[in-house]
Amino acid sequence: MSSLLEDQGFGGNLDPHDWRPVREQAHRMLDDMLDYVEHIRERPVWRPIPNEVRAQFRSLMPTTSTDLTSVHDEFMRCILPYATGNTHPGFMGWVHGGGNIAGALAEMLAAGLNANLGGRDHVPIEVEKQIVEWMRQIFRFPETASGIFVTGTSMANLMGLLIARTARLGIDVRRYGVAAGPARLVAYASSAAHGCIAQAMDLSGLGTQQLRSIPIDGRYQIQLEDLERAIATDRKAGFLPFAVIGTAGAVDTGAIDNLAGIAKIARRENLWFHVDGAFGALAVLARDLAPLFAGIEEADSIAFDFHKWTQVPYDAGFILVRDGTAHRNTFASPASYLGREKRGLAAGDIWPCDLGPDLSRGFRALKTWFTLKVYGGEAIGAVISRSCKLAHYLEGRIAASPKLELLAPVTLNVVCFRYRNEDADRLNAEIVVDLHEAGTVAPSTTTIGGRLAIRAAIVNHRTDKRDVDALFEAVIARGDALKHARVA
Ligand SMILES: *Cc1c(COP(=O)(O)O)cnc(C)c1O
Repeated sequence: MSSLLEDQGFGGNLDPHDWRPVREQAHRMLDDMLDYVEHIRERPVWRPIPNEVRAQFRSLMPTTSTDLTSVHDEFMRCILPYATGNTHPGFMGWVHGGGNIAGALAEMLAAGLNANLGGRDHVPIEVEKQIVEWMRQIFRFPETASGIFVTGTSMANLMGLLIARTARLGIDVRRYGVAAGPARLVAYASSAAHGCIAQAMDLSGLGTQQLRSIPIDGRYQIQLEDLERAIATDRKAGFLPFAVIGTAGAVDTGAIDNLAGIAKIARRENLWFHVDGAFGALAVLARDLAPLFAGIEEADSIAFDFHKWTQVPYDAGFILVRDGTAHRNTFASPASYLGREKRGLAAGDIWPCDLGPDLSRGFRALKTWFTLKVYGGEAIGAVISRSCKLAHYLEGRIAASPKLELLAPVTLNVVCFRYRNEDADRLNAEIVVDLHEAGTVAPSTTTIGGRLAIRAAIVNHRTDKRDVDALFEAVIARGDALKHARVA
């Protein structure tokens, strides 16, 4: 029966017949990745994908085997050179983490263990609980708090709203649906909130129209008086306000809402206070930045990513919930095949599958545990703090340049600016595309007050002054060249 497997060089199963060449190949693969990261600065940040490379990925499903060495060769030729580039110090687009070697090696260990963290009694779950405990400590949440790893903050924000919904309407909402509730639920977030908040309203069946977009002030923080007014108006109109989402590190500008101010309103109005701290929340690890987040410890739930500023390899999102019972009440579902025992492999009363929509789950906690242990909170805090200093340095250079203008105040690590010109939107969009193709630095764009901005989000721990200077000079050089080409 296993002759096909044996003919193709395997043992009687998918394991190798002879482990020695696999072991040698494994070491080569490890060395290739260490070389990649060690010499990342020598590569372009990103390069366009040649047609023949793209065509490699339009082939038929393989039915016969290919040697591991040749598949890896194909990876080296066709995949590795054409990655996003967020490992590169010149990458400043969107908000991407740079990854780290300890975390990458831990991913390999996790893949070897092939643990399923949906539940059962094994130490990988204890590792995840250890991270929950660490997060509970740094955010000063009570012992009744609970938390869980998810893909990213988009998922964590959705879960936060679902928990808020169940807390507001009671556990019966899971059976009868929101339409059976006493009134339509309404949530609040600032106009600078990430798009996944509106998406969470959509996915949860609450409807994007039920998310009130509250104006921001000159510092890009939610206007608290407008928030209070909107709640009062909705109550008068018969709606049921249930949640307010504060942003700790806005995607466009890095702005942090007045979290203590929101907490006060939330408590008075009986609203669930959820914080979207996707990249910003873990800046509490930086001593100089922690005061900006005052009030985050009063949240009912916080969503954040270890894969952004904490540099854990993708993906590693997380949600921390103050009231562990509310968390469980939203997701736990009894099933005969998931019974719990007092002893044995099926022991443990709360399993991670009781705390989110996933049953089978990977070991995201391991790369996070390695990262936090190998570097420690202070070094990670220092990385976060340094990217903010670099952002302020760039802000200073822009302010001193007559050719450039700053489009938003710099709170953390995000700098929005542009090359001054009549046709500035088009010109700056072109500058950014040209920079991507040149491969030295890669910022992205956003729109600030209706104007297109070049947006540099300094997240990567490898980014230093050289890269920020390179961005500054490249924007001016490209801007000058494009402007003159137009005039000519
Ligand atoms: C990145 C980000 C998100 C989305 O997080 P993912 O991990 O990409 O799902 C949400 N909110 C903010 C403020 C972000 O920066």
